[in-house]
Amino acid sequence: MTVVIIGGGIVGCASAYYLAERGADVILFERASLGAGATDRAAGGIREQFSTEVNIRLSQAAISVWETFEANFGTDIKYRRPGYLYLARDDSTAALFEETVTFQNDHGVDSRILDPEEATEYVPGLRTGQYVAAAYCPTGGFADPHLGLQGFSMAATEAGAAIETGVAVTDLRVRDGRVVGVDTTEGRYDADVVVNAAGSWSPQIASMVGIDLPVTPKRRQALIVDPESPVPDSNPLVTDLDDGCYFRPERNGQALVGGHFGSDQPYDPDKYEKSHDLDWAADVVEHVATVADHFGPDSRVIRGWAGLYAMTPDHHPIIEESMPGLLTATGFSGHGFMQSPATGQLVAELVLDGEATTVDISPLARDRFERGEALHETYFSA
Ligand SMILES: Cc1cc2nc3c(=O)[nH]c(=O)nc-3n(C[C@H](O)[C@H](O)[C@H](O)COP(=O)(O)OP(=O)(O)OC[C@H]3O[C@@H](n4cnc5c(N)ncnc54)[C@H](O)[C@@H]3O)c2cc1C
Repeated sequence: MTVVIIGGGIVGCASAYYLAERGADVILFERASLGAGATDRAAGGIREQFSTEVNIRLSQAAISVWETFEANFGTDIKYRRPGYLYLARDDSTAALFEETVTFQNDHGVDSRILDPEEATEYVPGLRTGQYVAAAYCPTGGFADPHLGLQGFSMAATEAGAAIETGVAVTDLRVRDGRVVGVDTTEGRYDADVVVNAAGSWSPQIASMVGIDLPVTPKRRQALIVDPESPVPDSNPLVTDLDDGCYFRPERNGQALVGGHFGSDQPYDPDKYEKSHDLDWAADVVEHVATVADHFGPDSRVIRGWAGLYAMTPDHHPIIEESMPGLLTATGFSGHGFMQSPATGQLVAELVLDGEATTVDISPLARDRFERGEALHETYFSA
C-alpha cells in the first residue's frame, strides 16, 4: 500500500508515523519546511474540556499518546500539566460551565466548577472581581509543538517513511473516479491513497478534484511577555471565555499570551502577515491585565507572531474519505496540535482497515453541513 501525504505539519507527520509503523509505504511532501504552516505557531495547549463527545474522545486518545511520548518516541516535548482554567464573566457562561462539566464528567473528564475565590488556589494572581465562575481541569497542559513535530517526523522516518521538504504537490491525478497519485514540483508519484493534510491550504488541494472544502484560514496571534511579576510554572492555562484572552506560563516566569479579537476576515494563506500587530499586542496585554495581576503597563513584549487557524463552520475537523483514493484530515480550528496523535491513528485506520475505530468519527464527515448536522463546540472563543 503506497500512501502519499500532502503537508508536513503535525497532522501529516503523525499520519506518516502511524501509517509507516503499520507497514505502509509512505511518502510525505511538504512544500516548505516541516512545521512551516500553523504547527510551529501554536501555543501548545492540550486539554480535554470540550462540549462535544467527539472532541473529548479525540483529545483523550491523543493525551494517552502525549503522556508517554518521551518514553515511546525518545523526544522530550516539554509536556507540563498544571491544568486548564476557564473563567466566566457572564451568568450565561457560568450556566454553560455547569452543563458542560456534568457532560464532561459523564465522559471521563475530571473537570470541576470553582468559584472565583477557589480559583485563586490555582491562579494566585487572579483578579476575581469581574468573574462569576470558573471551570478547572487538572489534566490540561501544554507542550512544545515543534518538538512534537520533530518526534513524529523522526519516528516516521525510522519506520520507513520518506519525508520530502521543499516539494509542492501541484495536482491530484484521477483515473476512473479514483485519485491515483500526485504531480509535484519534482515529478509524478503514484499512490493507492493520497492524504490531504495541508491545513489552511487543504481547500486548494481539494479544489484540484472539484471538492469544495468548508475550511477558512483565520489569522491568530500570540506573544511572549515578560510580566510585572513572574507567572509561576504551577499556573494553569487560563482562558477568559467571555473576553477571549488567555495566558499560560512559558519559561523563567514569562508568559505566553493570546487573544481572539480583532479582524475575523478570512486570510489568503499564501499572503498573510506572519509578524504580530503592535496595536493588537498592546490591546491583548491590556485585556490579560484585567485577568491577573502579573500583567500591567510595565509588562514587556519579548516577541510575537501570527499564524493561521484552519477553521470549519462548526470548529470541528473534517476527517473522512472525500472520494475514492483521497482522505482528508483538516480544519482543526485551533485544536490540531493537541488532537494530532489521535488523528494520525485514525488516518492509518481509514487507509489500512477501511474504517476508523479509535474514535467514532462519523460526525466529522464534511457532508454534516449539508445534512444540517453541524456540531456545536462551546469551549471556543475565536
Ligand atoms: C496562534 C496559534 C495558536 C494555536 N494554539 C494551539 C493550541 O494551543 N493547541 C492546539 O492544539 N492547536 C493550536 N493551534 C492550531 C494548530 O497550530 C493547528 O491546528 C495545527 O498545527 C494544524 O496542523 P496541520 O498539520 O493540520 O496544518 P499545518 O501545520 O498548517 O501544516 C500544513 C502544511 O501543508 C503544507 N502545504 C500546503 N500546501 C502544500 C502543497 N501543495 N504541497 C505540499 N505541502 C503543502 C504547508 O506548507 C504546511 O506546512 C494554534 C494555532 C495558532 C496560529
